[in-house]
Amino acid sequence: MAWVITRLCRDCVDQSCVDVCPVDCIYEHTGEASDAFPNQLYIDPEECINCGVCEPECPWEAIFEDEQVPDVFTDDTPLNANIVDAADDRQVPEHLEKSTPTPQQISDNKEKWGYTG
Ligand code: SF4
Ligand code: SF4
Repeated sequence: MAWVITRLCRDCVDQSCVDVCPVDCIYEHTGEASDAFPNQLYIDPEECINCGVCEPECPWEAIFEDEQVPDVFTDDTPLNANIVDAADDRQVPEHLEKSTPTPQQISDNKEKWGYTG
């Protein structure tokens, strides 16, 4: 059991989730951007203690418990798991202050990725 950051985070990456994770298991990939590691954050499923405190901190509503990941984001669960094997190319990111998205922006981002939930 672990929590998963979905593609709703992609290119938003304000990192509100990082500050609250008690075990520092939310990472950015520091290597070359690629299909394997698009620009978003990743939860290491082997380190996540399943506490769930990151989920309400995400203004983009991008974080789900693995058993609750919507079907349109199914591929994001193994994508997060890829960070386990990237130990030399990952770090816990610095927190960046960003403005809070509006409800319309949050809705538009979900629509962009085909999520209607
Ligand atoms: S708070 Fe949400 S959007 Fe921001 S980095 Fe974390 S998962 Fe991504
Ligand atoms: S569920 Fe808890 S341990 Fe897992 S990533 Fe979120 S804050 Fe960290």
